[in-house]
Amino acid sequence: MDSGLNLIFLGAPGAGKGTQTKKLIDKYHFIHLSTGDLLRKMIQEDDPLGVKAKAYMREGQLVPDALIIDIIKSKMHQGTGYIFDGFPRTLPQAQALEKTTHIDKVVYLEVSDKELIGRLTGRRICRNCGQEYHVSFQPSKKGMNCDKCGGALYQRDDDKEEVIKKRLEVFKSQTAPLLKFYSKKLIKVDGQGIVNEVFSKIVRELSLN
Ligand code: AMP
Repeated sequence: MDSGLNLIFLGAPGAGKGTQTKKLIDKYHFIHLSTGDLLRKMIQEDDPLGVKAKAYMREGQLVPDALIIDIIKSKMHQGTGYIFDGFPRTLPQAQALEKTTHIDKVVYLEVSDKELIGRLTGRRICRNCGQEYHVSFQPSKKGMNCDKCGGALYQRDDDKEEVIKKRLEVFKSQTAPLLKFYSKKLIKVDGQGIVNEVFSKIVRELSLN
């Protein structure tokens, strides 16, 4: 049985969308649709659409709407139970989603630019299981390998400082207008602070308990 809800997580790069949505999925019955994760997987598998997307991602630019909308549509096989993470990121994407399904709530994670840059430059990810670390706030006990599975940790190409600045600009110009688009469904959550505290706030705001 799915939750009967469709949720969107909005927030700048590094706001914690991936971390918080993965925690929600572990605890409740949702299907996680992260366009960033899907694109990275397609690149790894040499999928032609992934190859097309790669150049945009490396520059911190958004991948064209048509490609993203096709990917999302190909992954939706039921009416509800989805958490959209990193999608929609533009008004045309939001309008396309409206035509596909109903959205119940939109969670916006608010984090300052200074904090975002610190989080992203120090982020490291396990190539094997996707577990995220931070070189200072949450280092792996195994150095450059994952605590959980021993996989090698890597830094995303777009987590380099020059690209991060571009991604933050893109968020402000192209994605932030969605806050107005979703104003009636919007739940603003302070995304700074301890991961579990942010998670408790989200669960409370969504009345999931
Ligand atoms: P993320 O993992 O969500 O930070 O996404 C990484 C990169 O993938 C972004 O900087 C974009 O280049 C691309 N991307 C992910 N989701 C979208 C989307 N909804 N629309 C356009 N580009 C996207």
